[in-house]
Formats: sequence, structure tokens, C-alpha cells
Amino acid sequence: MHRLSWLKAVRVAVSMLFFLSVGLIFIDLVQWIPVKIINAITWTQYAPSLISFFTSPGFAAAGFILFTILTLLLGRVYCSSVCPLGTFQDIIYRMGRRFFKQKPLKYSKPKNILRYTVLVAVIISFISGTSLLLSLLDPYSNFGRITGDIFRPAFQFVSNSLAAVLERQDIFWLARKDLKGIHTSSVVFASGFLFLVVIMSFSRGRLFCNTLCPVGALLSIFSRGSRLRIVLDKSSCNSCGQCSKVCKAQCIDIKSKEVDFTRCVACFNCLSACPSDGVLYSSRKSTPYIPEDEKLQASSGKRRTILKAILLTTAFTSVKAFATRLKGGEKPTEIPEDKKLVATPPGSGSHEHFNLFCTACHLCVSACPTQVLQPSFLQYGLHGLMQPYMDYHSGFCNFECTLCAEICPADAIKIVKPEQKKRVQLGVAHFIEKNCVVYTDNTACGACSEHCPTKAVNMVPYKNGLTIPEVNDKICIGCGACEYACPTRPYRSIFVEGNAVHQLADEPVQEKIELQKTTEDFPF
Ligand code: SF4
Ligand code: SF4
Ligand code: SF4
Repeated sequence: MHRLSWLKAVRVAVSMLFFLSVGLIFIDLVQWIPVKIINAITWTQYAPSLISFFTSPGFAAAGFILFTILTLLLGRVYCSSVCPLGTFQDIIYRMGRRFFKQKPLKYSKPKNILRYTVLVAVIISFISGTSLLLSLLDPYSNFGRITGDIFRPAFQFVSNSLAAVLERQDIFWLARKDLKGIHTSSVVFASGFLFLVVIMSFSRGRLFCNTLCPVGALLSIFSRGSRLRIVLDKSSCNSCGQCSKVCKAQCIDIKSKEVDFTRCVACFNCLSACPSDGVLYSSRKSTPYIPEDEKLQASSGKRRTILKAILLTTAFTSVKAFATRLKGGEKPTEIPEDKKLVATPPGSGSHEHFNLFCTACHLCVSACPTQVLQPSFLQYGLHGLMQPYMDYHSGFCNFECTLCAEICPADAIKIVKPEQKKRVQLGVAHFIEKNCVVYTDNTACGACSEHCPTKAVNMVPYKNGLTIPEVNDKICIGCGACEYACPTRPYRSIFVEGNAVHQLADEPVQEKIELQKTTEDFPF
């Protein structure tokens, strides 16, 4: 056995750790994973960390620095061990070999024009103000969308079915969850990418990593200067080609006994495959002519997060129950909500900032306790394809919550303190009187006002002793609680028009609570 065979064992262990942990944070159906742990996992992801490095250098940017340095020292270890999409490709390739008897791999010529053209196109499009190409090709974001948009609903379906079976036996271990995150467009995109990656990796290993992946192309440039690299020891190599047959990057050319290290994903399969110790992982000074003698991966914090999730979910459920209890008007509404701009999450600042920095990984979509964040189709236009938007028909932004900002790894949603967030105006509510049940059915309602956290929607005297909503746009924060609670269909009578640039709402008017003076003792 090769003396460096342990490197492959370490790589497999580390890659499974990252693959399972990144997968789990996107599938965390009960939202038990504390924010700190989510952040500790996502900071390792190269593309979002690279964006953070240029926008707000801090903890989230450390992943970019660390893996750039590691690439300069050890080669593309990020690709072999940290990137979840990389490990996913390895799993598909392995299944192909095990169950479908795929042929062994062999050397293929580099597709440098393609991979560097893709990298340049991603950089140019990002600099010119759109992250569409990056979000379409970034491996972490694609893995997030595959896990969050395809596997998560599937897991929830199984979980809800199991919960229903258990409930019939009076066992209530599993809570059912209403899953709204199934959007045809995002499922189609995630499935399309999944299909592409499965086809590419099934018989060609890491073909995606060395052709279409912008992170792989960037790291391949850094790996040119790598201190340690895989090389063939020409004096020991007997040209049997065993190393080349297990090389997922198809970068070992047995004829010339050269290794294209820019394509090597540091999986270390070749080290143990060689029967004559002819593969070395050695200092770059070593040439293929190496002399013989030189062969050489929180308990109180967790409780707080669980409590916070329960409180937020309870608040959401109560508005939802209220909205369900209320019946819409007898007649369908006729005036469409003329929404020109959707709202972006609190902390994103503006459409421009959000559309530029969001890589559409959908981590916030998976994590949002009220499920107001949903993947967009063309709500932002083509340049913001799949980026999340505030869908107030699915939920509303909880007044106390700042979760999406806490977990966004790409700095697309910046951290806002809860007190600040309560005044960030994402948009402004607009009232359509002719849709409102008070107008159409001459009956009392007020769901919008009841759920408005700042009391920007106020019920004012109308006719026949009824009251009708009136919006104070200075204190409205555009959270969407009114739109979500409004019972009229198909069009709501009150909707939020997003702000292109978030504004600061006025302090809500505090109602003075007059404490009645009493001299009486407790009545019991
Ligand atoms: S805003 Fe949401 S989808 Fe976009 S990068 Fe941040 S967490 Fe991912
Ligand atoms: S702040 Fe609003 S949009 Fe963000 S996670 Fe919380 S409820 Fe969802
Ligand atoms: S706008 Fe307000 S009062 Fe009118 S139907 Fe909608 S929730 Fe009820």
C-alpha cells in the first residue's frame, strides 16, 4: 500500500462531512440547526465567500482566503473535499461504476478555451452588474437549489405522510409542515441542472468541474502555483495506466507521463491505485524525474434557536389560522394588484445590491420560518432569475425575525439589528377600496389592520357604522402581513409595492396605555 494512501481516506471523510452538513442545512425541515452552525458551514463555500471578501471583509470572507491559500499549497483540495457538488458528482460516478458497469476513465485533452471563457464571462457579467451567470453555474448555489427545491419537498412529503400514519396511532412525534417552496420554475431549473450534472459525471467523473464550473476554473489558475502536486515518477512508472483509470479529472496522460495539475481535483485516488509507487504527491520543485530517496473536519445556543423558531412559527401560524378563518367576499375581486416591484428581504438594501450579490443558493428560502421568501421566476427580470423575493401570498416578514440576514453567506442580505429591522421599509402597502369586503359586501373585516405590526393600516369610519382601512405610508414597513391576511380573492384588497431602495420608516406611534388607578385589592 502507498504510504500516502491515508490522504484518500481523509479526503473521503472530510468530503462526506461537508456534503452531509451542507445538505442538512438546506433540508433542516424542523429548523433545529443553530444559525452559528449554519454560518460555520457556509463560510467555507468559495463563491459566496469570495463575494463577501470584496463587499464586507470579515468572517464570511475567511473561506475564500483559506481555500485560496490551501490551493496554493496543496492543489484543488476545495474541489475534492469541501464543495458539496463535487462530492455529489463523485457519488454519481461511483454509482455509475457500481450499478451500470461503466468503463474505466482515460485521459482527455483539456477544454481550456471553454472553462476560461466561462470564467471570464462570469467575471465580466458580475462586474457589469448581473450575477445571473454566477448563480446559474456556482456549484454551491446549484447544490443548494437541488437540495432545497427538489429533495427538501420530497423529504417533507415523506415526513408529512409518516406523521399522518403516526397520528392515526395517536403518536404525535412528527409535526406536519405546510411546504410552499415548490415553484415550478425553480424545480425545473434545479432539475435541469441536476440532469446535466448527472449526465456529465456518470461516465466522465469531474467533467463539470473542468469545463463549466467557474470556481473550478479560478482554482485551477491558483493551483498552477501549488507547492505540492501529483506527479508521475518516470523511473518507477511502468505505464500500466492504473492511475489514469481512476483519475476523475481525466488529467493523467500516461503516454507522456505528465499530470495536468490545473485539472487535478486532489482526490488522491491515483496514489493508492499505482502498483509500483510511481505516483507522487510532492513539492513542485520535484520534477517527474524524482530520485528514489525522495518518493515520498451548543447546547444553550441551540435551545435559544429552537425557542426562537417555535415562537416565530407560532406567530406565523396564528396569522395563517386567522387568514384561513376569514372568508373572502362573496364575489371574486376584479381589480388586479398592480405590483410593479416586488420587495427584497430586509437587509438587502436595494434591488440593485440584492440582484448583484445574491447567488440564488436558496438557503434563506429554506430557512425563512414564514416561507415568505420564494424563488423568483421573472419578478426581477431575467438578470434576477431564481433569486428569492418576498411573496406575500405565501407568507409575511415576521416583525422580530432577522434570520435570512444572519445566514446569507453571500452578503446579499446584510445583518440588521432587530430594532433597526423594525423600521426598514421594504415597500409600502396600497389599498384597493373596490376589492375590500367592507366595500363589496358591506360587512366588517379589518384583518389587515389587526395584523399590521406598526399599525400603519388603521381602520377609519366608513358607512353604516363600519370601518375601512387607511394606510399611513410613513410608518408602513412593507412586511406584507396585511396582504397575507387579506381574505379577498383572486386579488387582494391590499398589497405591498416594493421599494427599489429600502427606506427608513418613521417610528410607529406608541399608544399610551392608561393604567387605571385603583385602590381595590385583588378580587380574589
Ligand atoms: S439572499 Fe438567500 S438565496 Fe441569495 S445568496 Fe443569500 S441566502 Fe442565498
Ligand atoms: S426577516 Fe422576514 S424574510 Fe427574513 S427570514 Fe425572517 S421572516 Fe423571512
Ligand atoms: S383590505 Fe383589510 S379590511 Fe379590506 S378585505 Fe383586505 S384585510 Fe379586510
